[in-house]
Amino acid sequence: MTLPLELFPDDKRVTPDGHLSVGGVDLVDLAERFGTPLYLYDAATILARARAYREALGASYPGRATVCYAAKAYLAPWLLALLAPEGLGLDIVSGGELHVAAAADFPRERIYFHGNNKGEDELRDALDQKIARIVIDNLDEVALLGRLAAARGSTQAVLLRLGPGVDAHTHAHLLTGAPDTKFGLDIQSGAAEEGVRAIQAQRSLELRGFHAHIGSQIGELEPYRASVERIFAFAAAMREKTGVVMREMSPGGGYAVRYTPDDPRVDAVAMVRDIAAAVATAAKTHRFELPELTIEPGRSIVARAGVALYRVGSVKKGARTYVAVDGGMADNIRPTAYGATYTAALANRANDPAGAEVAIAGKYCETGDVLIQRVGLPMPRAGDLIAIPVSGAYQLSMASNYNLAPRPAVVVVADGAARLVTPRETYAQLR
Ligand code: PLP
Repeated sequence: MTLPLELFPDDKRVTPDGHLSVGGVDLVDLAERFGTPLYLYDAATILARARAYREALGASYPGRATVCYAAKAYLAPWLLALLAPEGLGLDIVSGGELHVAAAADFPRERIYFHGNNKGEDELRDALDQKIARIVIDNLDEVALLGRLAAARGSTQAVLLRLGPGVDAHTHAHLLTGAPDTKFGLDIQSGAAEEGVRAIQAQRSLELRGFHAHIGSQIGELEPYRASVERIFAFAAAMREKTGVVMREMSPGGGYAVRYTPDDPRVDAVAMVRDIAAAVATAAKTHRFELPELTIEPGRSIVARAGVALYRVGSVKKGARTYVAVDGGMADNIRPTAYGATYTAALANRANDPAGAEVAIAGKYCETGDVLIQRVGLPMPRAGDLIAIPVSGAYQLSMASNYNLAPRPAVVVVADGAARLVTPRETYAQLR
């Protein structure tokens, strides 16, 4: 396999001495300075993705529209500082994410709080912070939030998360809008209508509209079109039956990214344009004023910007050649959890010809801890550096201390300089 340079962040090259460089920073130097496993993010790649979505919405949607970054993909103060001035909103799902966003002084009027089981303490924090919207998931939440808001004498603006019953073609663990899912209230069974009526009965809640997220790693427009149509058809029925008028709507996020050269190319910006156009058309068909539109990309904003860097500790030949690195499922659970696929490069010998097919094994005590089952590389040796591109999403945010591994350090590269934004966890912190 040739060097998969195209999957690395936007600004990458191979230096004359054969080292991979990202954002003008030599990865071999980075590993020396900060140790491994190390995650690096290229700030310019993130900004380019965020701006492209913002501009696509601006060009294709005549109403108000916001790109809400889905924090679950990866969240840290430096990222909030990068995204806030760009006018992005934030989709959060926990008190922890809210805490970090508030501490970074992210504009509260652009924060949307999701989650299928928000705790009372989390909802209290959200009310204290006066965030823009709470996206209600279920009837118990209607009652709880209604009570908490009423006790303060305030009115909270909410959206209702719908189960649109759309089966997007993605991994079962990434599906969220299929007929059988733990998220939202299903339209078909009448549960969503019950939700609308329950919210209406709470004087402290104002129902502003509807939300549906159909899943992640979706590369086709059709399931989004179907979901948008079902949201509007439901909203029209609710207008008729209950008088509730949808003023805001969100078809969620979930745009696919390429992890390996074999993955299909997806033009996510074009997809966003088409989704926005579908929303505008549906509004016309169902006689709604253009609702305020939010989209919620997470993965597709940060995935390509991130690179995971590991040091090879051993190379073992047998039925397969196992190249063992100093990280694995504790910093990247995706291959083990969903069979996610990746590719890799040797950061210190990037131009050497590929001569071997190997497995990249993690160091943790699970047979399933294999980051890549098969990849063509120059035959790795102990001491080499393995760089895995497209590592910016759902890796650090899902990282664990399995085997009491300290979580990796994180650096941000920009304009030829590297900045340590998260120091490596220490053994003392593990106590
Ligand atoms: N919005 C909601 C409600 C989600 O649950 C998710 C992810 O699961 C996202 C947005 C972001 O999805 P992605 O990172 O695939 O864009």
